[in-house]
Amino acid sequence: MSVPERVLASLAGAARPVCAYVYDLDAFAARVAATRAALPSGATLLYAMKANPHPGVVATAARHCDGLEVASGGELAAALEAGARQIVFGGPAKTDAELAAAVTAGVPLTVNVESVHEARRLDRLARAHGRVQPVAIRVNRRAAVPHGSHKMTGTPTPFGIGVADLGPAIDLVRSLPGLELTGWHLHAMSNNLDADAHADFVVGATRFARWAVRRFGAAVRTVNVGGGIGVDPAGRSDFDLARFAARMRRVDGRGLVFEPGRYLAGEAGWYAAEVLDVKRNHGRTFAVVRGGTHHFRLPAAWGYSHPAHVVPVEAWPYDWPRPEASSTTVDVTGELCTPRDVLARDLPVERVRAGDVLVFARTGAYGWAISHHDFLSHPHPEMRVVVDQSGDAGSSG
Ligand SMILES: *Cc1c(COP(=O)(O)O)cnc(C)c1O
Repeated sequence: MSVPERVLASLAGAARPVCAYVYDLDAFAARVAATRAALPSGATLLYAMKANPHPGVVATAARHCDGLEVASGGELAAALEAGARQIVFGGPAKTDAELAAAVTAGVPLTVNVESVHEARRLDRLARAHGRVQPVAIRVNRRAAVPHGSHKMTGTPTPFGIGVADLGPAIDLVRSLPGLELTGWHLHAMSNNLDADAHADFVVGATRFARWAVRRFGAAVRTVNVGGGIGVDPAGRSDFDLARFAARMRRVDGRGLVFEPGRYLAGEAGWYAAEVLDVKRNHGRTFAVVRGGTHHFRLPAAWGYSHPAHVVPVEAWPYDWPRPEASSTTVDVTGELCTPRDVLARDLPVERVRAGDVLVFARTGAYGWAISHHDFLSHPHPEMRVVVDQSGDAGSSG
């Protein structure tokens, strides 16, 4: 992996000290196309916009995917604004106002109901608007979820309805005149890198749907297998899309819905932070950057070290020697007043100098969106977009 020319070209236009996210919308669109080609024929591909809600990314997703998956009223409004042709609305704590916005969205929209109380509230709102709202029941299955991924089901979580409670929930939804039961929602994991395990999960989802027909007489139109395909920050154990595709060729995709977030957006984003200082302390070497975990929280949240590339910058405005380290490993730390503001530990570097720029690849998903932007009141990064149609769309603040 190295930093693509187009990303470097965009960063060359960034203000100093450099602190920016670069989103490559063509890379995003290419990943959407590759993912779609791997899915079983007839399947629906949505983008889970919580992974990266940048308007350029969402607009690209609205154009290239079949629709968007949203998890809040705010995301719903942005998805409609972006022209999403189809929406799935999930989330464990929807308010009446959010449910009402879903009922009146004006585009094909399925609400994933997470509890019987939510089903009753949605039914009341749908009837008040003279509508029949399509719903999928989010099921918290007992089935095992691939190892190493973050689990949402098969374990106690606030998500969905357990299989033991499913019968009465189905009866209730069917009895409510404002609702139509159209599907199952089975999203269960995050950051799974094992293609075979993911294929097993999809096949298991189709088996679940057949079982539900036998057990409850509940035939539905859609089986939503959620997202959860992983991205390895270091690129060492990437998800084997070709292997997944080979397994999916034997699956009937009609009615199957996929809604990845991380896998579509992860590699389309680059976080860049200028080195403000290089110093040694108690035997370790630190590259201190203009930025940190308030812009890119994932390494701190998940407790890992995110690799970075050193982009040399020759300009040096001071008349004393540049602080630098060479042929060593450095810890990359940020501008926050906490020892936890660490993006990478033991990053091997040939040379890193104050004034160089560190670029973190694969930061397009759950980067800026999940970070605590205003801790310490530092200025936000520039958000830069690269896209072929209009050249470098430049900075948007
Ligand atoms: C977060 C989420 C997704 C996307 O998950 P990724 O791990 O980013 O693919 C899809 N569906 C639901 C319901 C989610 O909550």
